[in-house]
Amino acid sequence: MVVSYHMRFKDKVILITGGTRGIGRAITEAFLREEGLPIVLYNSAENEAKKLREKGVFTIKCDVGNRDEVKKSKEVVEKEFGRVDVIVNNAGIMVLMPFEEFDDEKYNKMIKINLNGAIYTTYEFLPLLKLSKNGAIVNIASNAGIGTAAEGTTFYAITKAGIIILTRRLAFELGKYGIRVNAVAPGWVETDMTLSGKNQEDAEKLRELFRNKTVLKTTGKPEDIANIVLFLSSDEARYITGQVIVADGGRID
Ligand code: NAD
Repeated sequence: MVVSYHMRFKDKVILITGGTRGIGRAITEAFLREEGLPIVLYNSAENEAKKLREKGVFTIKCDVGNRDEVKKSKEVVEKEFGRVDVIVNNAGIMVLMPFEEFDDEKYNKMIKINLNGAIYTTYEFLPLLKLSKNGAIVNIASNAGIGTAAEGTTFYAITKAGIIILTRRLAFELGKYGIRVNAVAPGWVETDMTLSGKNQEDAEKLRELFRNKTVLKTTGKPEDIANIVLFLSSDEARYITGQVIVADGGRID
């Protein structure tokens, strides 16, 4: 049977953390276009969540760094959908902090959301994912997690390196259930994480700076990452697990 490219996720239940903006929203909209049933866990941005609901996205307010909240979200999803086919661990924050300015509170906040959030979400939703015939997990890491350097990102990079090893080890542990686990490691992508608070001039300077750090002389768009997430979640990637796809325009530093 020829399946339309645009229907790869028809009736599939897709859980996306932090799906109200940036890369997460592009992922949510891409799954929607392919007739999937996205469920977004979000912790703020009520207006954005409302807009997604109007498009047919199921949203649950949940701080992924809070295990009880994640557990309660799982109970809601179990009642409403009965299973999950794909988990996208996307929620994350970046707090810039040079090593010599180490601050416990900032560090713990990043660990809690970026790393524990992915662990809690995967752990709590795993029983629902095991009910899928071909479950997949896609984690959003970062090229920082494979060592690409940028000012003040050492501790952020540590959380993303954790995501990469989590990906590889979960692929090993969950393969017996037919669950594939992969990650995408984006380079510099234009989102609130990289551009919020910048005026037009400063934003353009940043774009220029990061364009010049790539062989392709371009910066990333949320859709560039969403396309890879959909591929890794689809049956087209049925022979791929434990892998990290770096999407950074070919960094040259
Ligand atoms: P963003 O700040 O635009 O979006 C992050 C999303 O995560 C938001 O929707 C936010 O509400 C959500 N979130 C934050 N804390 C949360 C919590 N406690 N519970 C639930 N949701 C929470 O950033 P983005 O650029 O779209 O980042 C998405 C992912 O991509 C992150 O994991 C980030 O580390 C990663 N990433 C981004 C870039 C980049 O250049 N933008 C590069 C590499 C990796």
